[in-house]
Amino acid sequence: MSKRAHLIYNPEKECMSRDELHALQSSRLAETVRREYECVPMYRARMDEKGIRPEDIHGVEDLQYLPFMEKTDLRDYYPFELLACPRSEIVRIQGSSGTTGKPIVSGYTRNDVDVWSEMMARTLTAAGCTKDDTVQVAYGLGLFTGGFGAYQGADRIGAMVVPMSSGNTQRQIMMMKDLGVTLLCCTPSYATFLGETIREMGLVPGKDLKLKAGCFGAEPWTEEMRVHLEELLGIDACDIYGLTEIAGPGVAFNCLEKNGMHINEDHVIAEIIDPATGKQLPYGEKGELVFTTITKTGMPMIRYRTHDICSLTDERCACGRTTARMSRITGRTDDMLIIRGVNVFPSQIETVLIRTQGVAPHYMLIADRVNHSDTLEVQVEMTEDMFSDTVAHIENVRRYITEQIKSVVGISTKVTLMAPKAMPRSEGKAKRVIDNRKL
Ligand code: AMP
Ligand code: ZN
Repeated sequence: MSKRAHLIYNPEKECMSRDELHALQSSRLAETVRREYECVPMYRARMDEKGIRPEDIHGVEDLQYLPFMEKTDLRDYYPFELLACPRSEIVRIQGSSGTTGKPIVSGYTRNDVDVWSEMMARTLTAAGCTKDDTVQVAYGLGLFTGGFGAYQGADRIGAMVVPMSSGNTQRQIMMMKDLGVTLLCCTPSYATFLGETIREMGLVPGKDLKLKAGCFGAEPWTEEMRVHLEELLGIDACDIYGLTEIAGPGVAFNCLEKNGMHINEDHVIAEIIDPATGKQLPYGEKGELVFTTITKTGMPMIRYRTHDICSLTDERCACGRTTARMSRITGRTDDMLIIRGVNVFPSQIETVLIRTQGVAPHYMLIADRVNHSDTLEVQVEMTEDMFSDTVAHIENVRRYITEQIKSVVGISTKVTLMAPKAMPRSEGKAKRVIDNRKL
């Protein structure tokens, strides 16, 4: 996409020297640990068990001695036992987007909502948003953090917000056109659906629409999908990352260089650990992402294991920000499929599919067990052109995809080419995997 100027919302915080940042993180960490020890009996017990006292934590280097927190803690101490403040200080509850069982909920104080809004203002600004922009929020507005996060960030900037929430696709596009929306916020899978529908309606991005950028996240997607969306919508597509437990979207974000996501390090400390041993890994190595909040007052999280897999870098970015960047999430430790002993990430298969001419980026992976052996079926939709091509050509493409997956992932799969529009479309987080072995 076209190179636009880099805008920075809070240069004082986003461009501070690494030494200054380190000192700030260290003092905020010490304060967070002191508070957590005082106010959260579960974490105090965990520190006592390890023989660690708050006064032992002087700085970022000491983080490695602290116990981890896990998603199960949020379930076990649901809903309020991890609060580090009186309940009356909580002004908002947000929750995970899971549809079954009890959600993971997190309580945010006024301070936490403010910090989150600032992080999202930085995120949108990095994608080029100013007060002159019109921002369409097509993330769900509700317990899920996506909608409120995008709304708050755009509001903080003073942009014009169109709070559509997700769904009602035709209406979304009508508003996009009529209001001259310049920035779109939604999941990448919904952006794909919106983009296709825009094309089907005969609208031409760049001519009929004023969209210039999109802030897409909340689910895994590949670099290939990002480039595809830039072409489909004629925009800069930026990756944004977050999670309910830490703050919602805006924890980290692409600048227009799109070379990793800048982490809001004055509010969180990121580490990468080996998921098997829990040991810290150096910058550049891939492992599990762990976050510690250092300004959150409602439900602070110390060494929270995200189960998301990525790597970190503190190499200088051309945009001028000095914050460390996390790579795109390549998978989750818990959505990795093990097929006949081989680790398979949906992202590896998505990369193959998007690189293949004739198939659309709508797919589903179905794992099963037949005669005591694992099987993996890859269902992917054909484009209209391919669907009307010869049977022999379709078979060639099917065989090509099977071979590509075999060479990239190392396993044999059954590839099924589906008719156009046969796969379900997503308005929120897409479901890409069905594991029948777990049923
Ligand atoms: P939730 O708190 O329910 O919104 O879910 C947060 C989870 O969504 C994260 O832990 C990630 O697994 C996933 N997620 C959020 N943003 C991204 C992103 N940009 N890329 C990949 N996964 C993401
Ligand atoms: Zn940058």
